[in-house]
Amino acid sequence: MATTLEIQRRLAELGFQPGPLDGVPGPKTAEAIKQFQRARGLAADGIVGPITSAALFGTTPPQDAAPSGIVPADWMPAAKMQRIIVHWTAGAHKASGLDRSHYHIMIEDDGKLVRGTPSIDLNQAPTRKGYAAHTLNCNSGSVGVSLCCMASAVENPFAVGSAPMTRKQWGTLPKVLAALCKRYGIVVTPKTVLSHAEVQGTLGIAQRGKWDISRLAFDPTVLGATACGDLFRAATKALL
Ligand SMILES: [Zn+2]
Repeated sequence: MATTLEIQRRLAELGFQPGPLDGVPGPKTAEAIKQFQRARGLAADGIVGPITSAALFGTTPPQDAAPSGIVPADWMPAAKMQRIIVHWTAGAHKASGLDRSHYHIMIEDDGKLVRGTPSIDLNQAPTRKGYAAHTLNCNSGSVGVSLCCMASAVENPFAVGSAPMTRKQWGTLPKVLAALCKRYGIVVTPKTVLSHAEVQGTLGIAQRGKWDISRLAFDPTVLGATACGDLFRAATKALL
């Protein structure tokens, strides 16, 4: 754990004002910590616990500090990960071998989680052999989560296909995202927690017309990648 002086120096470096850099944890230091926490979407308690420390110093929080919730802890090995990209498999409601080779975590129609063949740490930059190839030119530092659904779906005019996304899958997604954000110290923003369909527009990396996720099979009123992404980001933040 960092000393008060290290925390003060880091806060000052990042443009927050902790008062004199004297190693004394006074009210100005506590206020600067709170401002930093608010800026990063963390609980603003003025205390540098493991998660705030990870956000401050850019390290991975220790596993016991980040309750894994519904994702088994051993599915989330230590790694520096920058973002999470959400997909659908464009396949059936259950994960196939092909699905498992492309993503780190899959969510089946009944909300059951399936672990992918590649371990998340293989996608830490620089990627290592066997990494999960889920997003064209954007696999490095990216965790790939996929909902098992939308086989034979058509974008326009919209047709849900033979395996429409279920409410259960959609409802499980934020829980998985929150567990990953906690584990890897990822702060929820449109650039860090996004769908495959948002990658091109938000990160500027061309994706050849990918539209996962820009429609919800069970709710035709939600239209477009940003609308879908904003929903899962808000739901994830509410869990953090
Ligand atoms: Zn995708």
